Amino acid sequence: MEKIYTIPVNEAYESQCDCPLCALRQKAENDYLEYYLGPSLMEPDTRVITNKTGFCPDHMGKLNKREAKRLGLGLMLHTHLKDFDEDISKEIKAAAPGKAGLIKGRTTDYKAKLNAIADKIDGRVKLCPICDKINYTMDRYLEVISYLYAKDPAFREKFKRTHCLPHTAMLLRTAAGKMSQNEASDLVADIADNNSKAFEGLIADVEWFTLKFDYRNTDKPWGNSKNAIQRSMRFLSSDRSDFDETGKK
Ligand SMILES: [Zn+2]
Ligand SMILES: [Zn+2]
Repeated sequence: MEKIYTIPVNEAYESQCDCPLCALRQKAENDYLEYYLGPSLMEPDTRVITNKTGFCPDHMGKLNKREAKRLGLGLMLHTHLKDFDEDISKEIKAAAPGKAGLIKGRTTDYKAKLNAIADKIDGRVKLCPICDKINYTMDRYLEVISYLYAKDPAFREKFKRTHCLPHTAMLLRTAAGKMSQNEASDLVADIADNNSKAFEGLIADVEWFTLKFDYRNTDKPWGNSKNAIQRSMRFLSSDRSDFDETGKK
């Protein structure tokens, strides 16, 4: 097993976080954001890719927020805009012949054409080398998890943790795709235990959060409920900085 993936997996499972896979994903995302805001932004090999792909809306926003490498980003966006324009604008113009223009072919063909252009735009907007790299890295981490779960009893103990629901789904797919049936069923038993505890805890905490709005409960202690909304959102949709507890967002 490659150490560059094994070490972070063990560290994440030893750390205090809501979901070790969320922690790994966030770390990978940060690394790649830094990477694309570093010298690579100007390297010809990277530019060949980013000129074509740009970044997905999520990562475009995150790159912008870092307020770094504005010139590099500007140069990349300049070429990317030109590439997108060449690819899309001609097709849109061709589908808009003007008032006097004659639309050839049947209406269904014409409408299919509009949908095809829309699909092409949507497809291109989604392209993102940062997402690709994160997905690649997460696949390696999941391979490491299935390997360590099978071979390392100490890791099995560490694995008895809560995972958010999107990462629970990832682990189930990994179990189905990469593990023997015996190992998979052990892993699923661990997931089942921890998930039902997590659901129970969150359901109770969110309920108490709502009950705190009742004036009769105003003076009663919050218990674990103060951040129950953020913790529930992270559990349901994986850890995002949007759900931090500082109240900034
Ligand atoms: Zn997660
Ligand atoms: Zn992305």
